[in-house]
Amino acid sequence: MPRDLCRKDSLSTLNNPFLIHHSRPTVDDEDIQAVASILRTNEIVQGECVAAFEKAMSEYIGTKGGVAVNSGTSALHLTLLALNVQEGDEVIIPSYVCSALLNAIRYVKASPCFVEIDRDTFNLDPKDVRCKIGRQSKAIIVPHLFGLSAEMDELVRYGVPVIEDCAQSPGAIYCGRKVGTMGMAAVFSFYATKMFTTGEGGMVLSDSTELLERIRDLRDYDGKDDSKVRFNYKMTDFQASLGMSQLSKLPEFIDRRRKIALRYSDGLKPIGSIALPKEPSGMKHIYYRYVVKTKKDVESAVIQFRREGIETAKPVHKPLHHSLSERRNLAVTDETWKTALSLPIYPSLCDRDVDLVMSKAGDILG
Ligand SMILES: *Cc1c(COP(=O)(O)O)cnc(C)c1O
Repeated sequence: MPRDLCRKDSLSTLNNPFLIHHSRPTVDDEDIQAVASILRTNEIVQGECVAAFEKAMSEYIGTKGGVAVNSGTSALHLTLLALNVQEGDEVIIPSYVCSALLNAIRYVKASPCFVEIDRDTFNLDPKDVRCKIGRQSKAIIVPHLFGLSAEMDELVRYGVPVIEDCAQSPGAIYCGRKVGTMGMAAVFSFYATKMFTTGEGGMVLSDSTELLERIRDLRDYDGKDDSKVRFNYKMTDFQASLGMSQLSKLPEFIDRRRKIALRYSDGLKPIGSIALPKEPSGMKHIYYRYVVKTKKDVESAVIQFRREGIETAKPVHKPLHHSLSERRNLAVTDETWKTALSLPIYPSLCDRDVDLVMSKAGDILG
């Protein structure tokens, strides 16, 4: 089926200051048809379609099963509850990540233990994880940031349950294994601008049917006999139908993103002053983000790109430890936050626009 993956509407979009956006969902007529067909059935809330989406995701990633929920944050929250993480417990996370992780930890009244990242891959530094594991450590949340797998062989070795955060990396590969198959559980997000979307949505995948059953029980409050606290974290069937349709295009989305990344990396190589993203051997990067490190001031670079109609961003808004009163010494995290800049990348970004971004990057970052 031919699908025009090239942006053609942005010049005509009113009150839109950008010619080239930083991220965009990729939704086509087939996706819209899939949603419409469910809306016409009158069975629009959690039902068969959600079950089919859970099956399709667990087959694609390679786990025994999955439980769909209404966001990635909910997926994290229920996974922590199902692992019995509670007040007094510590959960190991990087500080260089979005605040969803910290929120989920606070929902269960546990505390975060912040760990350093690797300066080349942006992912958890296993050596620092090992240093900081203590008696209170109840879980490690391992984000595979920007589409690249973390060092899983090291991280699963410490005897603390690992929750893989695959919100940015469905389809990424670590030593022949898909991310999401190596920890105790894996969480996904289907927010609008993630690798593929259900608008809002999330999922937990695991090989532990017992863990999945606990999560399945917690996402729905209705028809229960005891007084346990439960949630309304359900996904709707029309979202799941969008998810199925989108999941079938994920391999194509990944191919396009990798082609864009290759084009960036070839074109930006001559600019000696910026560091390009790395893809360590044995890993398959899916380039949810194309993140460079620059010696120029990132905030003013973002403004300069904006003047050219190009939307760029700090890929992490603010390290999590910056907003807590106890400042910790996370030098690599701080340095990364100051130097990392995310360039536009999404399946519908066409080569012409990639070339335009690169030519401006030469002026602004060179
Ligand atoms: C997006 C994201 C989340 C949260 O997902 P939501 O669906 O927005 O709640 C969690 N972790 C990471 C790494 C993310 O990128």
